[in-house]
Amino acid sequence: MASGASLALRLAALHRQLPGRTRLLAVSKGQSAALVREAVAAGQRSFGESRLQEAAAKQAELADLEPLDWHFIGRLQANKARGVLRHFGTIHSLDSLALARRLARIAAEEGLSPAVLYQVKLRPDPAKTGFAAEELRACWPELASLEPLRGVGLMTIAPLGLDAAARLELFRECAALAAELGLTELSMGMSGDWREAAQAGSTWVRLGTALFGARPGGPTGPD
Ligand SMILES: *Cc1c(COP(=O)(O)O)cnc(C)c1O
Repeated sequence: MASGASLALRLAALHRQLPGRTRLLAVSKGQSAALVREAVAAGQRSFGESRLQEAAAKQAELADLEPLDWHFIGRLQANKARGVLRHFGTIHSLDSLALARRLARIAAEEGLSPAVLYQVKLRPDPAKTGFAAEELRACWPELASLEPLRGVGLMTIAPLGLDAAARLELFRECAALAAELGLTELSMGMSGDWREAAQAGSTWVRLGTALFGARPGGPTGPD
């Protein structure tokens, strides 16, 4: 596990390499609350988690800190929607119209207005969910009107096996789609591909292993 000092150094090194418009979302899934605390001490405020129960337990352990900025980045099951809304201010993985309707209804009941990013899938990838570009355009009028959700951006995950040039092209396509829809946030790039994502205009790179090192208990990829 990284010591506090090396975590702070890695964070500083990443910040030096990221363009000004690109923020760092520290993906703390699989990592301890103690490590999140070290990252907070090093100045990090925004954290990404993929599982509700794990995140809620960590948030409880960190309740003595000033409120942190929690982002949900995992696959969102319909029956977890209320819990996710209660525990996260931003959701990166809104991947269907049905889920958006459900989130809007529950957010209204809870008096919440979460920021949401629509997850898009611009290349075939059996391992991932997300809107195809045409599908997103087709349901855009309804999606964009689903108050109290605040649609702020697009999120995408590059399939495995693309080279750097192909990833850059994919991320640029995602940026163009966001611009077409008037969305300003772009959640693109993970530990293995954040450079191309930042080059294409990412506003949130989602970094787990590049910041914290390997996840204890083995790598869990995006889900
Ligand atoms: C786990 C995860 C990440 C972080 O992955 P690393 O390769 O460790 O940086 C980013 N995005 C999503 C959606 C994830 O599930």
